[in-house]
Formats: sequence, structure tokens, C-alpha cells
Amino acid sequence: MDLAKLADRLYPDISTLPEDMEKRYPKRNLPADAKVTRFAPSPTGFVHFGSLLPTRVSERLAHQSGGIMFLRIEDTDSKRYVEGAVENMIKTYDYYNIKFDEGATIDGDVGDYGPYRQSERKEIYQTYAKQLIREGKAYPCFCTAEELDEMRAQQEAAGEDPGYYGKWAKWRDASDTEIEAALENGIPFALRFRSEGDPSRKIKFTDLVKGEVTVSENFIDHVILKSDGIPTYHFAHAVDDQLMGTTHVVRGEEWLPSLPFHIQLFKALGFRLPKYLHISQLMKLEDGNKKKLSKRDNEAAVSYFTEKGYSYEAVVEYIMTLLNSNYEEWRAANPDKSYTEFPFSVKKMSPSGCLFDEDKLNDVSRNVVSRMTADKVYDDVTEWAEHFDPELYSCLTADKEKAKRIFSIGRGGKKPRKDITIWEDVKDYVSLFYDNLFKVIDPWPDEFSKSDIKAALEGFIKSYDPADDQSAWFDKVKAVSAELGFAPEMKLYRSEPEKYKGSVADISMFIRLAVTGRMNSPDLYEIMSIIGAETVKARISAAVDSL
Ligand code: GLU
Repeated sequence: MDLAKLADRLYPDISTLPEDMEKRYPKRNLPADAKVTRFAPSPTGFVHFGSLLPTRVSERLAHQSGGIMFLRIEDTDSKRYVEGAVENMIKTYDYYNIKFDEGATIDGDVGDYGPYRQSERKEIYQTYAKQLIREGKAYPCFCTAEELDEMRAQQEAAGEDPGYYGKWAKWRDASDTEIEAALENGIPFALRFRSEGDPSRKIKFTDLVKGEVTVSENFIDHVILKSDGIPTYHFAHAVDDQLMGTTHVVRGEEWLPSLPFHIQLFKALGFRLPKYLHISQLMKLEDGNKKKLSKRDNEAAVSYFTEKGYSYEAVVEYIMTLLNSNYEEWRAANPDKSYTEFPFSVKKMSPSGCLFDEDKLNDVSRNVVSRMTADKVYDDVTEWAEHFDPELYSCLTADKEKAKRIFSIGRGGKKPRKDITIWEDVKDYVSLFYDNLFKVIDPWPDEFSKSDIKAALEGFIKSYDPADDQSAWFDKVKAVSAELGFAPEMKLYRSEPEKYKGSVADISMFIRLAVTGRMNSPDLYEIMSIIGAETVKARISAAVDSL
């Protein structure tokens, strides 16, 4: 059969040609060095924390160069379809500030290069597949799953390379009559790529992260269209990245072994090979050994971080520290700049991959949160609490001004307080300000007599006046100290400690314990003015009763 006829016989419904597709998807009109990147997940229902690395790399490369980043949904594997997975994924990346310029969105596709869901691009793939058939670069294979299993078993027994190639490639050189008979009998067929590769020939290839890679040519006649006419990843990726104008493919290193086949496909299709960046999987240390962060690890799921209330800024900041070795140094010199001002460089990425370290993330997070304004903390915490902690949500929203005053404590200076790492910490931190959350955490210290503590609390409450400014307030604490034989000034105490039962610091500690239920807290005067005189008095009298 003439090849053009064969192409029509196999895909009769396709009347478009590659030229039509090129017209439909013209070259992008962008400055010469603008990069076009994409994120192309399969919607499996699980968003891996590690995927925040390639997405951020793609985002930085595109946006730093005035280019475009788009989201393509690779949903050709209907067996893996999970209800709601696409929506969940789109929301997750949006939350972590991965902003796509084009592609699939919750409300449908946005952009001129769609559809951005592979399941809707069948005609496009088949157009190119048909062209490969016409050029003798692809052929139908009518093998059943059982035949292929049998072939694999024989190859294994004979110690030969697995796959459809050489003498195993039953349909590669089938005659017209054989093909026609199979079609007549309605036997389903897959379309295979006719590989001219030779495994003894090597190809050198430069991956922008891994450096120079030497690989053997692909010699397997891989399937490009399955029997339902849906493409395999390899073929779809080549067609899509060509038509969508991708200049840089950032993807997981698990695709590196398929690269020889991809190179072949791009060549056979007459496409320009994009630049590739293969990113190693995120690792973690377990019992001193590096291991891949696998789905079984809690920290593998992005949702784990969302539920715990990591601010997206903290996660973005942490990802940047993982991606570029000089980021932390830059941040130290530019504490107030946005990460988008950092000159992100592929050259500073580690070819061997990154290690996830929760302590480090927490450290980064504490710093990021400490630099936020009180308004921002309020907005983000309430948004989180609305989903994950209704009790906290109602406390914070019942009196917005009070909540903002709480979050203002110790903020804005050169050395801001670092009480909050994640939004999950907030409830505990603010609990002393709300009677329904208040609990006594620390016990009375043993080294002081209960009667002294009691006397100190009673003395303080007698003189307490909420109208006092901070220094008048503290003078009263000092007066109570002096009255009870505690040094009213630290200096005095330090020079003659034996003369006193303790110091003004101890008296303050008694009051702090009574009012906040803990030994450590932010500024006590500030706390009292936020919770108000009535609460102060009630807590102190409850403390007195407990002694
Ligand atoms: N759909 C593939 C995956 O989820 C995409 C790989 C790529 O980015 O090209 O692994």
C-alpha cells in the first residue's frame, strides 16, 4: 500500500496537515531571549512538594526573561483520572504563587495555544502521526497485550534487551496484505515509531542542569499513539512543546532515560529540540541516609504544608534557597526585596538535587513571618483558620482590632520577635489574650515562697491603674518589689544579692505568670493593655486563689 493511502486508511477522520497546525499555532511574538516554559503535570490527585521546584524554575526562567509560562494538563491516561484533581492542582499552585500566564484554569483554558488539556488535542496529535506514516516513520502494530507479554517473557529467558525492536518487531515490515487483513478483521492497532537508532551509537547532549550527558541512541519502536488514538507522553510532549513554542522544558529527571527517544521524535517530526532541564527528585535524610521524598512521607504532599499553615511566602523563600546556592547570601544583603528581584541562575542549581530539611524550612519561615506586617499576618492567619481552625477563626474575627494589636507586638523593628513559624502556632501564641483559649502552662517557681508571690500579686493589683503609661506601670512593680524585700533595681540586686529575696525581675515574673500563664511572653505591659483591666484583675485574683 502506498504510505499516503495507509495513513488515510488508519486515521480516515483526519484531514488536517502539519501546515494547518502551524498556521493555527503561529510562532510567538516575543523578544529574542524570552523563554517559554511550561508545567505539564498529570492529574493524579497528589501534588508533590517536590513539584514546587520545577514549577518555580519554570516560573523564574519565563518571568525573568519577559517570557511566558503555561500550564498544560497531561491527562491522556484515563486510567489515572481522579475526579477534582485538576482543580485541586490549579488551586495549590496558585496558593504557592506559581502564576501561569496561559493554560488550564478552573474556568477553562486561557491563551491562544490551547486546548491546554491533552485529552482535547487528539486531532492535533493524529495530524502529526499521519504525517509520520506518510513519511514511513511510523507503522501500525496489531500485537495483542498477550503477544507482547509473551515477547517480553521470551526476551527475558534469552537474556535479551526488552522491547519492540529488530526481530521482535513483528509488524515493522509487515506486508500490505497482512495489514489490510488485520484491519479487515477489526484488530485494534497501536501506532509505533520506526526507529533507525543503533544502541552502539552515542549521542552527546547538554542538559542545562545536569551538564553534558552521553546516551545511547534509542532502538526501540515505541508506541506513539495507543489503540484508542490517544498519544503516549513522549509523542504528545513533542507535538505540544513544538506548537506551544516551549523553549525550555523543565521536568523531573525520571524522564532523562527517555531523552534519546525524544530527540529522535523531534528530529523525525522536523521540530526544533527545546532546551532541557532535568531536575533531580527532592531527597530527605533518614537515619543518616539520603532517600527520595516518597508519597508515603507526610512532607511529600503539598497539602501537609498548607494544613499546617506555612505561609506561601515562606515556602517560596525556602524553595529559592534550595534552588540557588547563593540565594541566602543575597537575602541577607537584601532583606526587604522580593525574591523576584534575585537574579535566578540555572548555573547555580545543583545537578545532584536538593535535600529537604524541615528545620531549615521552619527557620526560613520564622524569619519570613517576623518580617510581615501585622495586617498581613492577620489576613493570612484568618484565611487559614477559616479552613483549619474555626475556634481560632472566631476569636480573631470577633475583634479584628484586638487581633491586629496582638500581631503588632514586637513587629517592625530591626530585631522583630519570632514567635510564629506557621499558622498552626498562632493559637497557642494568642491563647493568653482570649479567655476561652487561656491556659496556665508553667507552674509557680519553687524557689520563692507562696506567700511572697501572693503578696506581690495582691500588692500589684491594688496599685494597678490601666491608665498608667509604661514607666508609671513599671514604677509600681518596683514599689511592690521594694515593699516585699526584693531589689527594685537590677543594679542593686547584682551588687548585693544577699540583701534581697530576689529582684524586680522576679516580681515581674510572678505577675507575668498570673496574667499569661507562662514564664515567657511578649511585653507584659502591652499584653495587659490589650486584654484590659478586667481580665488582668480576674486572672490575678484567680492566681491568688490558686496559691
Ligand atoms: N506529565 C509528565 C509528568 O507528570 C510531565 C513531564 C514533563 O514535564 O514533560 O511527569
